[in-house]
Amino acid sequence: ARTDRRPALTLLIAAPRGFCAGVDRAIEIVERALERYGAPVYVRHEIVHNRYVVDNLKAKGAVFVEELDAVPDGAPVVFSAHGVPKAVPAEAERRGLDYLDATCPLVSKVHRQAERQIEAGRHIVFIGHKGHPEVIGTMGQVPEGTMTLVETLEDVETLGFSQDEPLAYLTQTTLSVEDTRNIVTALRERYPQIVGPRAEDICYATSNRQAAVRAVAPSSDLVLVIGAPNSSNSLRLVEVAERCGTDARLIQRASDIRPEWLDGVGTIGLTAGASAPETLVREVVDRLAQWRAVEEHTLVTAEEKMVFKLPRQLAD
Ligand code: SF4
Repeated sequence: ARTDRRPALTLLIAAPRGFCAGVDRAIEIVERALERYGAPVYVRHEIVHNRYVVDNLKAKGAVFVEELDAVPDGAPVVFSAHGVPKAVPAEAERRGLDYLDATCPLVSKVHRQAERQIEAGRHIVFIGHKGHPEVIGTMGQVPEGTMTLVETLEDVETLGFSQDEPLAYLTQTTLSVEDTRNIVTALRERYPQIVGPRAEDICYATSNRQAAVRAVAPSSDLVLVIGAPNSSNSLRLVEVAERCGTDARLIQRASDIRPEWLDGVGTIGLTAGASAPETLVREVVDRLAQWRAVEEHTLVTAEEKMVFKLPRQLAD
C-alpha cells in the first residue's frame, strides 16, 4: 500500500528534450577557450539563450557583450550559436581579434545556401522571426535588399514579386514545423517558380522536441517547458502543447512554478528547450516532489546521436 499521503502526480517527461548538438558544441567552445586563453574570454551575445548556462560561464571568466566594440583589442571572442552577419567576423579580422565561431553548423549550412541562391540570381524569401539573432545573422550573409523576411501567412500575401522573378526560400532553424509547412505551401502556390530545400531548414533538434512534446501533451493537464523567453525553439514547444489543447507554461527555473498551478492537475508533461540543461529538469522534478508523490515516466519518440566537431583552433 502507498504510504506517501501526498496526492499523486504523474510526470510525463518528453524525450528528446534539452541540449542539442549545436548548444553542446557552443558551450564547449567557450569552456575550451577559457582553458586555452585563460579568463577573460569575451562572448558576443548570450552563447545560447539560457541564463543558467550564461551565469555558469560568467563564473568561469566569460564576459558577455552585445557588440564587438565592447571587446578590448587582443582579447579572444566567441560568436554565439545563433550565427552572426558577415560584417562581424570581417570587423574582428580588421581589428586583429582572435575569434572563435560557435555558430551551429546547421545555421552555417543555411548561410551557405543563402549565398548560393544569391549567386544564382534569386531573391530570397526568408521565413523567420524578426529580431531573433539567427535571423539577423542569416540576413547579414547577403547584400541588403536581396532577402525578404516573412513571419506569417499574412506576410506571404503582401509580397509583391512577379511570377517570373527568380525566387528561393530558406527558413530559420527553430520554427514551428506546422506553421512553416503552411507558409511554404502558400509561397509555392503564389510563386510556383520558387525553389527551396527539400525539407525546411528546421533542424533535427527542433522537430524532434516538437514531436516529443506532442506525444506527452494530450495526456497531460499541464505542460511545463523549461526555457528562456527569448529562446525561439522553447516558445514553439509551448505553442505545440497548447495546440494539443493543453495548458502550457514556459518556466526558466523550478522556482517559477506556483503551487496553485497544480490545483486539479493529475498529470504534468515536462520538456526543455534546446538551450536548457538537464540539471534544470531535475530541479523541476525535485520541486514537484516536495508537494506531491511524483511518479515519473519518460516518453521517448526519437534517439539523437548528432555530435558536431569543434572549430579547428580548438580541436585536440
Ligand atoms: Fe543547431 Fe538546432 Fe541546436 Fe539551433 S537548435 S543550435 S540549429 S541543433
